[in-house]
Amino acid sequence: MISGQRKIVIVGAGFVGMSFAYALLNQRACDELVLIDIDAKRAKGEVMDLNHGLAFSDSHMKIYAGTYDDCADADIVALSAGVAQKPGESRIDLLQRNTEVFHSIIDPVMRSGFGGLFLIATNPVDIMTHVTQKISGVDYRRVIGTGTTLDTARLRYMLGDYFSVDPRNIHAYVMGEHGDSEFVPWTQALLATKPILTICAESGGQFCLTDMEKISENVKNAAQKIIEAKKATYYGIGMAMVRIVRAIFGNENSILTVSTMPNGEYGEKGVYVGLPSIVNRNGIGGIIELSLNEEERDKLHHSCELLRSVFSDIGI
Ligand code: NAD
Repeated sequence: MISGQRKIVIVGAGFVGMSFAYALLNQRACDELVLIDIDAKRAKGEVMDLNHGLAFSDSHMKIYAGTYDDCADADIVALSAGVAQKPGESRIDLLQRNTEVFHSIIDPVMRSGFGGLFLIATNPVDIMTHVTQKISGVDYRRVIGTGTTLDTARLRYMLGDYFSVDPRNIHAYVMGEHGDSEFVPWTQALLATKPILTICAESGGQFCLTDMEKISENVKNAAQKIIEAKKATYYGIGMAMVRIVRAIFGNENSILTVSTMPNGEYGEKGVYVGLPSIVNRNGIGGIIELSLNEEERDKLHHSCELLRSVFSDIGI
């Protein structure tokens, strides 16, 4: 399914799309990059700006502003088009506006003969990923949302800071909706190979569960805080998207908390939600079913129910 040329089309050359593009260039993560935006002038300007940096990079990336016909032989079409979240606005509030935008994008992508993978970042991301799968009609394993990939990176960063260890040695996930009902299954959180709950219990009060809950709240509220301070979040999500792309092009079978559709795992079906999943050149290679306790399973179910009900409200 994935060609040797590593071609990506980004639809939506705004803050998120361009942070993704800039990170792709700096990490040499693809060979051909096409930008599409309803504001064609903006896409052309962004292409010029990126191309003028090529002389300073090790990359020979071909970068150009294109049309939906360019999706025909693309490996990945990344969707970051839409309206950014405003201060105080919930992700769900964005839904109706972004669904209309997606209709106008996915139809021409599919008409081009596109046979690759969709990668969705537009919020509310779990819903927009489901919308993409529904409109395109492609196998659900070929449609991947960024899900709680960024939230998981924020969690690992904050836990690394709290325990004074490298975040890469923290193995913990944010699961569920990318939004208010997301949660951290603390029974599954490890520092190196030691459960974080055990570390707290043995620390004589130095580390505690109350602090863990504060950290998970801070992860949940991080986007809103950044939006209040600088109107939008984009570098982190751009880098999260490159991480997913590398897992695809490298056929890595990496475990990432992308938004995917469970097929009976955790007792769930018919919903896109952030779950630790195997990502490879075919898209989703499988879902890892963690040993959640009853309370954690209830939280996941609550998140899935909420997403299912919002998706059914769209009526597509
Ligand atoms: P932005 O306004 O800077 O960019 C959106 C771009 O989409 C604009 O350039 C706009 O012209 C383009 N666009 C709008 N309608 C279009 C259409 N019909 N066809 C083609 N292009 C179209 O917004 P942004 O800050 O880049 O955010 C983009 C999306 O990413 C938002 O939905 C935001 O909430 C989301 N986001 C997601 C995460 C995540 O973790 N998944 C993180 C940050 C932002």
